[in-house]
Amino acid sequence: MKNSKQIKVIDHPLAQEVLTTLRDKNTGQIAFRKGLVKLGRLTGIEIARTMNYKVIEVDTPTGVKAKGVLLTDAQNVMIVNVLRAAVPFVEGLLKVLPYARQSIVSAKRIEEGIAAPNFNFRIERSYSKISMIYPADTLIVADPMLASGSTLLAVLDEILKCNSPKRTIVASVISAPLGIERILDKFPQVEIFTAAIDEGLNEHGYILPGLGDAGDRAFG
Ligand code: URA
Repeated sequence: MKNSKQIKVIDHPLAQEVLTTLRDKNTGQIAFRKGLVKLGRLTGIEIARTMNYKVIEVDTPTGVKAKGVLLTDAQNVMIVNVLRAAVPFVEGLLKVLPYARQSIVSAKRIEEGIAAPNFNFRIERSYSKISMIYPADTLIVADPMLASGSTLLAVLDEILKCNSPKRTIVASVISAPLGIERILDKFPQVEIFTAAIDEGLNEHGYILPGLGDAGDRAFG
């Protein structure tokens, strides 16, 4: 896959175990939602691994100083919550990146009939509240399913047309090659963190093997 330097597949066995639970059609709503929170946390840990830090010194109760680190980049994070499936995923990201500011975007793809072969979904935007984005920010756009890329392209278009954050990350649970390709073609600076890259899409634009409709499964 081209630009593979920009793609980080989270292959930690814990992440892969949670992903397996999410894929299982017998996993119910509560376990599914909890799984998305866990994967958000594990994705946050992987993102934090790539952040800048500075070495600091602290006074310990023993009177002996200890060297440690301060994750400086974690102080400047903006998370964009793409409604609705991202809600539990972002809950997990926030456990690792608690200082993050948040923006909310409602972007729903309109699924009419057969979407293949172009998969250019019309995106219905009913609400968005984008907070200030600063040049020092790591921008994390969270959407568990990166399928055709239509939703994320619309969201990134809106945000990046007037903002230039230090880093732009798409955080997803499962990605399809087409969606990855489209995003990196249009926004080569984007980094993608995902727990899996699946085979492709069915004719309605659902990821195969995927996990079904993440929003329906998380919200019942
Ligand atoms: N959205 C989902 O929830 N699942 C898919 O497979 C694709 C888009």
